[in-house]
Amino acid sequence: MTAVLAARGLVAGYGGIPVVHGVDLDVAAGEVVSLLGANGAGKTTLLLTVSGLLAPIDGTLEVLGEAVPARRRVRASTVTARARLGLAHVPEDRGLFADLTAREHFRLGSRRAGRSGGQTLDLDEVLGWFPALARVLDRRAGLLSGGEQQMLSLARAVVGAPRLLLVDELSLGLAPMVVEQILPSLRTIAGRTGAGVVVVEQHVGLALAVSDRAYVLGHGRVLAAGTSAEVAAQAEVLEAGYLGGVPDTGDSRPPGESLGPAD
Ligand code: ATP
Repeated sequence: MTAVLAARGLVAGYGGIPVVHGVDLDVAAGEVVSLLGANGAGKTTLLLTVSGLLAPIDGTLEVLGEAVPARRRVRASTVTARARLGLAHVPEDRGLFADLTAREHFRLGSRRAGRSGGQTLDLDEVLGWFPALARVLDRRAGLLSGGEQQMLSLARAVVGAPRLLLVDELSLGLAPMVVEQILPSLRTIAGRTGAGVVVVEQHVGLALAVSDRAYVLGHGRVLAAGTSAEVAAQAEVLEAGYLGGVPDTGDSRPPGESLGPAD
C-alpha cells in the first residue's frame, strides 16, 4: 500500500519546545487511522505538524512522498505546497466563514483544488454522504447547526479529493447521535477516494469502529499502536492514555511496542 504519511522519531512543539517526543506514525492510502489520548497528549500538535502549520523540531517526516526537514520556523508556503500535494486539514474550530453559504464553501473548496491542478469530486456524490447538507445548501454557515457545520467542514475538504485527510475532533460539542451519523462517513470517504484519513477523536469506541488502526498517545509519546481490534482489547492502555498515566504492560518493553508493529 502507498504510504501517504510516515514519521520516525518525530519531535514537534511550539517555539522550539517539544510537546511531541519521538513519535513513529504511518498512514497508508485508503486507510483510516485514529489518534487517541487525553487532552494535551499532543494529537492536535501532530496534525498541525503534518499539515505544515508547525515545523518539525527533530526526527523524520514524509508527507505525500515529500520529506519535510526539521526547521526553526514555519513557512506559509509549506502549507500551500502541502495542500497542493493533496493534503486537507479539517481543524477543531471547523474553519468556516459564517457569512458564506454552504454552496459557496463547496465552490471555494473545488476552486482551490482545481487551481492547484488537483481532482475534485462531484458535489452530488459528496452530498450523498451528507444528505442533511443537501437541504441547507443555500443557508449561511453561521446559521447552520453544530452538526451541519461539522459536516460542511468535512464535506468541503472532501470535495477537493484529498489524498491525505486530517480530521481534528469532528465530534467536538456534538450530541452522540450526530457523531454516530458523521464518523462512519470517514470510512466511506477513505474507501471511495483512496485517501489516507487520520482522525483525532474523543469518542474512543466510535473512532475504533471506523478505523483500521489506532495510536494511543500520552504525554506526547505513543503508548500503544496496532489494529483497532488490538487497541480496543488493551483497556488498560486506553485508560492510561485517557487518565494521563503510563500503562503497566506487565513486561519490560517500552510503550508503543506493547501491541506489535503498526504496519
Ligand atoms: P486536546 O484533545 O485537548 O485537543 P491534544 O492531544 O490535541 O489535546 P495538543 O493540543 O496537541 O493536545 O497539546 C499538547 C501540548 O501542547 C499541551 O500541553 C498544550 O498545552 C501544548 N500547547 C498546545 N498549543 C500550544 C501553543 N500554541 N503554545 C504552546 N503550547 C501549546
